[in-house]
Amino acid sequence: MGNLVAIVGRPNVGKSTLFNRLTKTRHAIVSDEAGTTRDRQYGKCEWNGREFSVVDTGGWVVNSDDVFEEEIRKQVIIATEEADLVLFLCDINNGVTGWDMDVAQILRRAKLPVILVANKADDGKDLYDQYEFYKLGLGDPFPISAATGSGTGDLLDKVLEIL
Ligand code: GDP
Ligand code: MG
Repeated sequence: MGNLVAIVGRPNVGKSTLFNRLTKTRHAIVSDEAGTTRDRQYGKCEWNGREFSVVDTGGWVVNSDDVFEEEIRKQVIIATEEADLVLFLCDINNGVTGWDMDVAQILRRAKLPVILVANKADDGKDLYDQYEFYKLGLGDPFPISAATGSGTGDLLDKVLEIL
């Protein structure tokens, strides 16, 4: 087992924010505009004396809806081929979209460990919404706030248990 963790998910769910928090850099571009991170970004994360690699898979360009969906799907497939563990980020405020269902199916078929992360759980009132994510068939949703760091320590503990 290697040690590459891939962060995948729809534009704007907070992949780059989480990447920057894990790697303690501002390397990945965080933006309100969907599709801003153009390149795959690799970094290192250290937690409890262990180190692993992280990739932010936000590297797509939005031209049309077709290109958009196809590009994201491609990124997810690349991630399943190179990663040892996938963090599948969803936005707890958006709920589950059709696209999330498609990606969940790709991830389930890839037969590699996946942690389903319900991001933007900024405070307790959001926690109820996480139950909707069970329908993705990827186990317990893990609520975090990449922005405030809430839950990210527990998430890192879980990552290290799997790697
Ligand atoms: P990406 O497209 O998936 O890489 O998403 P970004 O990391 O660029 O974030 C998209 C937007 O969501 C930005 O405005 C972030 O500040 C915001 N964001 C990211 N994580 C959180 C979070 O935990 N809570 C809230 N409220 N906003 C967040
Ligand atoms: Mg990004």
